[in-house]
Amino acid sequence: MLSAFDILLICVALILMIAGLSRRWSAWRAGRWEGHSGDWAGLIIYLLGHGKILRVRGRGIAHLIVFWGFLVPLIVIILAQFAFRLPPVPSQMLSLLMDVLGIGLLAGTLFFLIRRIVSRDPLGPKRTVVPLIILLGILLTGFFAEGARLRIVHPEFAWSSPLGWMLSLGLPASPLLMQVMIRTHFLAVLLLIAVIPFTFFRHLAAAPLNVFYRRREGRGKLRDVSLENGPLGANTIKDFSWKQLLDAEACVSCGRCEENCPAYISGKPLSPRKIIRDILEEAESMIRRDKGTGHGFVRPLTSRITEDEIWSCTTCMACVEHCPVFIEPLDKIIDMRRHLVMGRGSLPLEARPMIRSLEIFGDVQGKGVAHRMDWALNREVPLFNSGDQRQEVLFWVGCSGAFHPRYQEVSRALVHIFKSAGVNFGILGKEELCCGDPARRVGEEGLFMELARKNIRSFRDLGVEKIVTLCPHCLNTLKNEYPRIDGDLQGEENRNIQVLHATEYVWNLITEGRVSPKYPVGKSTAIQDPCYLGRVNGIYGPPRDIIRSLPSTRLRELRRHHESGFCCGGGGGGMWLHERLGRRLNAIRAEEVKEAGVDLLGTACPYCLTMLDDGLKALEMERPAKVMDVIEMVALSIGYNSLR
Ligand code: SF4
Ligand code: SF4
Repeated sequence: MLSAFDILLICVALILMIAGLSRRWSAWRAGRWEGHSGDWAGLIIYLLGHGKILRVRGRGIAHLIVFWGFLVPLIVIILAQFAFRLPPVPSQMLSLLMDVLGIGLLAGTLFFLIRRIVSRDPLGPKRTVVPLIILLGILLTGFFAEGARLRIVHPEFAWSSPLGWMLSLGLPASPLLMQVMIRTHFLAVLLLIAVIPFTFFRHLAAAPLNVFYRRREGRGKLRDVSLENGPLGANTIKDFSWKQLLDAEACVSCGRCEENCPAYISGKPLSPRKIIRDILEEAESMIRRDKGTGHGFVRPLTSRITEDEIWSCTTCMACVEHCPVFIEPLDKIIDMRRHLVMGRGSLPLEARPMIRSLEIFGDVQGKGVAHRMDWALNREVPLFNSGDQRQEVLFWVGCSGAFHPRYQEVSRALVHIFKSAGVNFGILGKEELCCGDPARRVGEEGLFMELARKNIRSFRDLGVEKIVTLCPHCLNTLKNEYPRIDGDLQGEENRNIQVLHATEYVWNLITEGRVSPKYPVGKSTAIQDPCYLGRVNGIYGPPRDIIRSLPSTRLRELRRHHESGFCCGGGGGGMWLHERLGRRLNAIRAEEVKEAGVDLLGTACPYCLTMLDDGLKALEMERPAKVMDVIEMVALSIGYNSLR
């Protein structure tokens, strides 16, 4: 029975928790408004099944045990306050279940406590270790109180409280000891409630909220920014939206983003976990400075996050893919790039020629529209829907396919496949401009919009309904980013142009029997998952299916593959930014290819092909794996003989 003093203590703990949470809430309020719809069903399924949390087996299972060990007793304790009574046998069964869950919770808490201590969690012991020690105290005092009670009232074996009974064997039959344990248990619970907002335990509220409001549209589309009004990117935390600030609140500092970030792995000065922590700490300093009003002075983000960090990102999305609570470090990095580039004109020197080429010539190589069709010279490649001709498929060549000497070969190989299969296709020729991905990923939003609008007008004028492209970056931009702009241009919803990657389209041709690989290409082949094909657009199957369909070719997986595939270093402007810091990503990946001992490496992206070809050559092996686009392999296998 609770005394008046106990009720007072409970009220104090609850007031402290609510006051702490409301101060934090004021930090989210400082962010820009942005509409987000929630997803109850998704949240409940995620909480009960633990979804992405279980991807890391050991830690995931430990968390699942802790979750259920926390939730069930909490529900039972709440119900017990309402004079909820069960008959003796179900009551003992429930007691046994609580005991078992309590043991699981104890083991899980110890596991996480040791992990946080050993890994020297950068959040600091006050925020991570202390709450876990309090939780441990709650559990131990609970079990000891039960042991002391059993020793006094029920000295025989109590099957409904096995751990309590075992402890009772070593305890004196002391009512005082029992009372001390119960009081300590009670006070520890109140302490934990009071410290929730000030420790990583606030993820109990913030993480489910973040899962509830998680992004449900395609992850390849970057957050829109208004060029007319509103901040051009993020200079301070107030330029982030409330959802981006909620992301920072929800971070549990588990480090999974960091463990999978190629920039971090290669020793560059970027850790997505640190980026999120910096944003959180900046929000906390703002709360301290303005006493919780959310309207105080804020410092530029670059006072905590360096430009080297911001430019080390390849936008590979490994951090987004692996975060168990759907935090997106990447969209904050892109917003900071936008501010650097559009707000301060601070684009790294080496990337400026690329931007200038896009502005003047509409392509990243600076060759100009007059040379857009040089790759197709003497190949009889038709223009899309020109004159009386009507075509079904637009082959979007892309800047690499049109201008990069090595990738021009892949464009020609795809044309050969199209012709062999009788595909009715055409290209835009001089009407095609860069899709704008390199500009958008380095923060040049205005230039991206300009290029996108011009391309979209060409699609509309020519009545394009289906696009096939070799480049995953073009695929992502045309498929995920253009539809919104298309809708804006026309004052209507997007026009639903079907955009396919060449591997998807060619695999369909193979399954329909329109293309039949018959000549062997290589004995053992590994596949490099391009980030924008796999992680961003979820296309893992077709490149593998194609390789498996080639005669006498065995597919081997590299050490890191599928969702964990390792970036080649070319995305996010990486093709134009110098990797001055840390190891080169293509060198790390090339070593993994070497380790796999394959004679061929299949790619499905112009950046991957160029970067890994360079990486493997730099290893100076006697017989390095040959790097080929999967499309070239198909062309070779059907008898195309114009490859190098
Ligand atoms: S997008 Fe890739 S490179 Fe950038 S922070 Fe995330 S994991 Fe690291
Ligand atoms: S951002 Fe996500 S993956 Fe990274 S430390 Fe925080 S919770 Fe873990």
